[in-house]
Amino acid sequence: MAYLLALLLLLPLPAGAWNAAGHRLVAAVAWQEMTPPVRERVSALLRRHPDHARWLKRQQEADADYGVFLEASTWPDDIRRDPRFHDADEPPTPRLPGFPHMLRQTHWHYRDASGGGPAGEIDTRLLSLADELASGREAEQVYALPWLLHLVADIHQPLHTGGRGDRGGNAFEIENPYNPRKPFMSLHAYWDELPGPPWLRGRHLEPPLRRLSALPPPPQGEVAGWLAESRELLAGPVYPRVSGSLLPLVTPEFHRRAQAIADARLAAAGHRLGRWLNRLLTPVSPGRGSR
Ligand SMILES: [Zn+2]
Repeated sequence: MAYLLALLLLLPLPAGAWNAAGHRLVAAVAWQEMTPPVRERVSALLRRHPDHARWLKRQQEADADYGVFLEASTWPDDIRRDPRFHDADEPPTPRLPGFPHMLRQTHWHYRDASGGGPAGEIDTRLLSLADELASGREAEQVYALPWLLHLVADIHQPLHTGGRGDRGGNAFEIENPYNPRKPFMSLHAYWDELPGPPWLRGRHLEPPLRRLSALPPPPQGEVAGWLAESRELLAGPVYPRVSGSLLPLVTPEFHRRAQAIADARLAAAGHRLGRWLNRLLTPVSPGRGSR
């Protein structure tokens, strides 16, 4: 038993925060914020990405550029199981054109200072990815864009910003009567799945998107502030406090509140991502000087 627990603690964080539906929802809110020239620039960059054809095949939107943007947002999670990529302790795989390396970089998805596992580097990564995106060097921009789309969403998921020495809630089991097929699950998985079933695309994505779009847009702030907000939630309403038969229990009240927090975090991530892309990718007109 102790051995199993030790083994569990050594495993990297499993799913990337927010499931695929959550990431596509954040991207969809961002698209609404983006100016037409920035949408065009983003689409041009994604067309140069080695996985553009895969995204095009998978997307289900009438506007294919929009659909591809949604698909690109899950790319850093998709490569976790992709044999073209490798972990740091595995031999390198052949590089895709323009790529700096083929590492999966699973530690980029979080920052956990609680001592429950590797510390992660989501906040510092976001800043360097933003620099790459603003650099104007196309190969760097193509690589950085799907990562930035993804990590702005992850940093808004409270459990990607710490925990109680439980690997961001991965080692914290709860009882969830709202999922009859899986009534016992980790707290991390519970929060990841709040956006809805991971297959949501096309018209199925519209009802939750309308719900998120109706929420008031947040102030922009910056990366350190987004992390601090997530940590504040982590210290407050993220963990269930009522005991069930065996484990902490998801009560109707907890579930309602968690859903409202998840919606607010997804919407905030979307608005902030869209505005950030506007700032990073809008060309500075000559004569206005540099930023
Ligand atoms: Zn992730």
